[in-house]
Amino acid sequence: MSSSSPPRDEPADDAWLRLALIQQLESLQAAGVLEMAPPTARQPTSAPPPALPGGPDTENPMKSSTNSQSLSNDSMTAQTDMGLDERRRQLNVLQHEVSSCTCCDELVDNRTKTVFGVGNPQARLVFFGEAPGADEDQQGEPFVGRAGKLLNDIISQGMGLTRNDVYIMNVVKCRPPGNRNPTSAEAVNCRPFFERQFEIIRPEFICCLGAVAATTLLAVNVSIGSLRGCLHNYRGIRVLATYHPAYLLRNPAAKKEVWKDIQLLMAEMGLTAPGEK
Ligand code: SF4
Repeated sequence: MSSSSPPRDEPADDAWLRLALIQQLESLQAAGVLEMAPPTARQPTSAPPPALPGGPDTENPMKSSTNSQSLSNDSMTAQTDMGLDERRRQLNVLQHEVSSCTCCDELVDNRTKTVFGVGNPQARLVFFGEAPGADEDQQGEPFVGRAGKLLNDIISQGMGLTRNDVYIMNVVKCRPPGNRNPTSAEAVNCRPFFERQFEIIRPEFICCLGAVAATTLLAVNVSIGSLRGCLHNYRGIRVLATYHPAYLLRNPAAKKEVWKDIQLLMAEMGLTAPGEK
C-alpha cells in the first residue's frame, strides 16, 4: 500500500480512541457547533484522480427497480459534482489498490481474492457488512453465499429493489481465516478503503449489517441491540444498524426484528413495500 496507508503498528485501543474522537468532532462540526479542517487521519489512501472530460450519464442501473423512481439520486450527484462514469472509474482505481494491499499479514496469507464491493456507484443506499466468507473469498464478490441469498431476499422481496439498485460492501476486504470476526487492527487498516468508497458513492443511507459493521463505522463500543431502532449519523450519511443475515440463519426468530428495521429505513427513504403499491 502507499505511504499514506493506515499504520500497522498502532495499538488497537489508541486507534479506536482516535477514531472515536474524530467521530465526535465531526458530529459537532455537522451540527454547526465547531468549525475545523478535515483531520488528516480521515484522508483517503490515494489522492482523487484528475477529473475526466465530462459527459452525460447515459447508464441508469436503477431502471428495472419497482422503486426506481424513489431511488434517483440527482441531489447527491450534484453535491459531489461526479457523474456515474467518474464514480465507477474512481472505484475501479481504488479496487485495484485494494487488490494489492498487504497491510494485514494473516488475511493476506489466507485470502484467495480481495472482495471490494458491488452495485450501483451512485446508490442512495449501501449495505455494509463485516467481512468476506468462504464463498465471497472464492468469487471476489460480497454476500454471495447463504447469507447473501437472505440479503437478496431483503432487498428484493422486502424492499422491492435489486442488487443493482444498491451498493454492497464490507468493513474488511479480505476473508478472516475460519470466518472469525475481523480484529480491530484489521478494521483500522481497512478503514481508509471503505471511507473512500463512501466518499465516492456518497449514499444518503447506510445499513450496517451486524455489530462489527455498526460499531466500526460509528466508532462506538456498544451492542448491536442498543444501536437498533433509530438512525445514526456518519459524516452526514444516515445510518441504520440491524442484525447480520448470517445471524438470521442461526436465529430465524430475529427476522421480524430485522423487518422492523428495514421498514424504518424504507420509511425514511420514502420507499413502499412491493405488496403495498
Ligand atoms: Fe488490506 Fe483491507 Fe485486506 Fe487488510 S483487509 S489486507 S487493509 S485490503
